[in-house]
Amino acid sequence: MIMDIKEKETAGSSIYVPEIATILKIEEMSQTEKLFDIRLDDQKKQEKFCFLPGQFVELTIFGLGEAPFSIPSSPGNRDFFQLCIRDTGNVSGAIHRMKAGDKIGIRGPFGKGYFPYERMKGKDVIIVAGGLGLAPVMSLIKTILEDRDSYKRLVIIYGATDPSNILFRKDIEDWKKRDDIELGLTVDNPDSAWQENVGVCTNLIPGINCTEDAYAVVCGPPVMYKFVVSEFEKKCIKPENIFLSLERRMECGVGKCNHCHVGNKLSCVDGPVFSLWEIRNLKEAI
Ligand SMILES: Cc1cc2nc3c(=O)[nH]c(=O)nc-3n(C[C@H](O)[C@H](O)[C@H](O)COP(=O)(O)OP(=O)(O)OC[C@H]3O[C@@H](n4cnc5c(N)ncnc54)[C@H](O)[C@@H]3O)c2cc1C
Repeated sequence: MIMDIKEKETAGSSIYVPEIATILKIEEMSQTEKLFDIRLDDQKKQEKFCFLPGQFVELTIFGLGEAPFSIPSSPGNRDFFQLCIRDTGNVSGAIHRMKAGDKIGIRGPFGKGYFPYERMKGKDVIIVAGGLGLAPVMSLIKTILEDRDSYKRLVIIYGATDPSNILFRKDIEDWKKRDDIELGLTVDNPDSAWQENVGVCTNLIPGINCTEDAYAVVCGPPVMYKFVVSEFEKKCIKPENIFLSLERRMECGVGKCNHCHVGNKLSCVDGPVFSLWEIRNLKEAI
């Protein structure tokens, strides 16, 4: 069971105190992204560390600060969890300089809104991700693949700026070999070896045949959302079946500091995953 923030407070565990964790393994995914395998030092807490696809943790680098990161690993893996981190600033830059065995702090998992994988059962699922936007949807993809027969078609469209920026390559190579995944890869700037599509993700959506009760998910750079959502709407996918991960500058992660407003909602506790139906009238949402 996942405890919500109020339950944690009444259970006496502070939502502000990070759990000590160890970096088990680091894998370089591109020039700017690394994948970290992480385990909480308290074994019982690690075994109980359960999250849902689309949730995130607050990562603490002691003496420096903290920042939110999505969990791309499978919720079914209780031995450790993963974070895919782009080196962009203080906290992310510091963990990029760390090595296996180093200690970090973890708060969470946080986020109320998550991809409704249970409701998606028996339906087509279309996932469109751009760049680092693949990280938040990876746990959804893994959840679906672990129970593949419960879902109808699984379409994954992934776009990157250039082939060297493609993340989760090993997973993508596995997906290519499966006949139960329809995979569309695209880059803005191809190199001479590139044999897939060229251009933005949006270009690949009109070619998808899907039913009106399909579920659609989008995650990527802010510029992408309006265009992808508009393509989904052309396919008559219902707004309550379209899900977006909306990341905002976040501080506390637990709905106290009010830094991550999306209209009258807070991305940390009401999201970061929202349905289009929930946010379509919020001016600054997408
Ligand atoms: C729910 C959620 C999930 C996320 N998941 C991931 C993930 O899986 N992987 C990942 O790499 N990133 C993820 N991010 C983004 C990540 O949290 C940010 O990149 C994070 O702020 C980096 O922290 P930092 O200390 O390294 O960077 P900072 O030192 O805070 O700087 C990062 C960049 O933001 C700018 N910046 C700093 N403060 C502000 C401000 N107040 N307003 C606007 N810009 C500012 C800086 O100039 C710099 O360009 C996620 C964010 C959210 C909210």
